[in-house]
Amino acid sequence: MSDKTTSNRHISPSKKREDGRLDGLLRPQLLGEFTGQERLKANLSILIEAAKGREEPLDHVLFHGPPGLGKTTLAHVVANEMNVNIRITAGPAIERAGDLAAILTNMRAGDILFIDEVHRLGRAVEEILYPAMEDFVLDIVVGKGPGAKNVRLKLPRFTVIGATTRLALLTAPLRARFGALYRMDFYEQEAIETIVLRGAGILKVPIEPEGAAEIALRSRGTPRVALRLLRRVRDFAEVRADGEITGETAVAALNLLEIDSLGLDDLDRRVLRAIIEKFGGGPVGLDTIGASISEESDTIMDVVEPYLLQLGFLERTARGRMATPHAYAHLDLPLPHHAVSDKPNQRSLFSSPAEESDEE
Ligand code: ADP
Repeated sequence: MSDKTTSNRHISPSKKREDGRLDGLLRPQLLGEFTGQERLKANLSILIEAAKGREEPLDHVLFHGPPGLGKTTLAHVVANEMNVNIRITAGPAIERAGDLAAILTNMRAGDILFIDEVHRLGRAVEEILYPAMEDFVLDIVVGKGPGAKNVRLKLPRFTVIGATTRLALLTAPLRARFGALYRMDFYEQEAIETIVLRGAGILKVPIEPEGAAEIALRSRGTPRVALRLLRRVRDFAEVRADGEITGETAVAALNLLEIDSLGLDDLDRRVLRAIIEKFGGGPVGLDTIGASISEESDTIMDVVEPYLLQLGFLERTARGRMATPHAYAHLDLPLPHHAVSDKPNQRSLFSSPAEESDEE
């Protein structure tokens, strides 16, 4: 049942089948078309220019951050900017060392291997990847038993671009082999508005700036969510209005989807309510929260928690998660006396939410 709830979420930043069909169409192709993440883009363009100037393949790159922010898109952008081929795979898809060896021996000099969910590579696969990334060699064992021989194959100089939502789960040796680590942050409202307007242009949906602003406001700073909400609001505008997305139709459509003014949906609110109503505001562990509302703790960790931290609604402490006074206020719940007087999160009543997010 928890799976069902999760996959039905309109604001889930995880990829759905419908997104897959449209990704190619909506994906920016070059760095100049990629909205937001200004600092990351500045750093990345230096990395690219320098490699091109030296006529060398790009150093291995790791993108980390919550799902739906554009890690895969950036990998494609890098391949286009470098004018090389990109091969896409994911940690769980490479089951055996032999699978990786087959991929690596088919790479050409300069090619990019994009590994999504790179923290989920198996141990044996990782061990093959270390020398491949560092020295561009493939160590394989030929034959079995006493006659088995170690053979070292030379590989062309290729580039690994890794993506992960959980930097902390990456093993230290793997992490050390990436020459450049970039963290992706939630997007500013203005950047998401631009992404919505661009998406509407590509999908040929008439939209007013107020409509784009309303969608952006509720997209939790995540392009994938913004583009999905755009499509749902378009449906609403076509069925219930004249097809144009105005501020008013956007509000009506998003309210019907039960996505509130900050982009929180039913699952976010259930998590916050559980912490507040069942566990006295916390601290409480993620697994306990998950069990109490029948949701996977992984979903809560990847999808719910980062945005609630960003809003300053949750605080991560050594003993577990705590709801801050901002969360009580948003849900219109009375703040218990002890939450203000004895708890360390008292400052969050007075400081800005942005200062409190402590992700990684
Ligand atoms: P991730 O790999 O981080 O989960 P993706 O790269 O798959 O995210 O991006 C999700 C969707 O959002 C894609 O459809 C992509 O086109 C869109 N997108 C991501 N970043 C941007 C951006 N900066 N500008 C426009 N669209 C974006």
